Amino acid sequence: IANRRHPEPRGRVLTIAGSDSGGGAGIQADLKTIALLGGYGMSALTALTAQNTLGVSGIHPCPADFVSEQVTAVIDDIGADVVKTGMLYSAEIVACAAGLVERYGLPAVVDPVMIAKGGAPLLRQDAVATLIDRLLPQTYLLTPNVPEAAALTGIPIEGEKEMERAGEKLLAMGARNVLIKGGHLRGEAVDLLLTPQGVHRWSCERLAGRNTHGTGCTFSAAIATLLARGEPLPVAVGKAKKFITAAIRTAVDLGRGHGPVNHWR
Ligand code: PLP
Repeated sequence: IANRRHPEPRGRVLTIAGSDSGGGAGIQADLKTIALLGGYGMSALTALTAQNTLGVSGIHPCPADFVSEQVTAVIDDIGADVVKTGMLYSAEIVACAAGLVERYGLPAVVDPVMIAKGGAPLLRQDAVATLIDRLLPQTYLLTPNVPEAAALTGIPIEGEKEMERAGEKLLAMGARNVLIKGGHLRGEAVDLLLTPQGVHRWSCERLAGRNTHGTGCTFSAAIATLLARGEPLPVAVGKAKKFITAAIRTAVDLGRGHGPVNHWR
């Protein structure tokens, strides 16, 4: 990632993720978030989705070779300070992303996107093993929600104690740091960051709004941007948590379903 003329981190974020035609999640959420937080966003598309606030009606994956070509074009010229991955869809694309992260030595924020709120599979079942075997060991920060952490570890999660146990297992599986987001549990929304130096905890009141589409993408893109701007990990997560909480609190109705969290006024 070295660019000899600009040795300091300066907010370059490459997102490897899917397109949400409705603009609420995926690449579109990432690029809006990166720009708003003062970074420079670049994208390698893994799949197109036909999607709106009611759900996903179609998925058109990109050939893995062409995902690779997009990443190579960006890194060979512009470079990146942090790479973020979102919807990777197939085992081929997961393996391709893992290989690129390893080849370029990029710090990777991996959001293990699996299933859209409406139920559409954004990661094929046969790609989960590849994510565990190939991408987890290349991950600087893994950001699963509770269902994703449970699916990756096999640990049923009903409270904070199991969140922490699953986080420790994910560290043992190769992720350098793990942020488990507790928004799917009842009560306070608790997020736990597990690092080799210890555990950090954030808690905030549960917000009632239904406009939460793209929350996970927006949160992980915010963390990636703050890291790319040189913030230490716990500071980046704390600031991103404030950012996503404000985004959920102020999201306005758009469309007939779950509106996006990134309609900023
Ligand atoms: N579509 C794409 C392309 C995504 O990357 C994601 C989330 O990561 C989603 C949809 C799912 O968004 P949500 O579950 O918030 O509806």
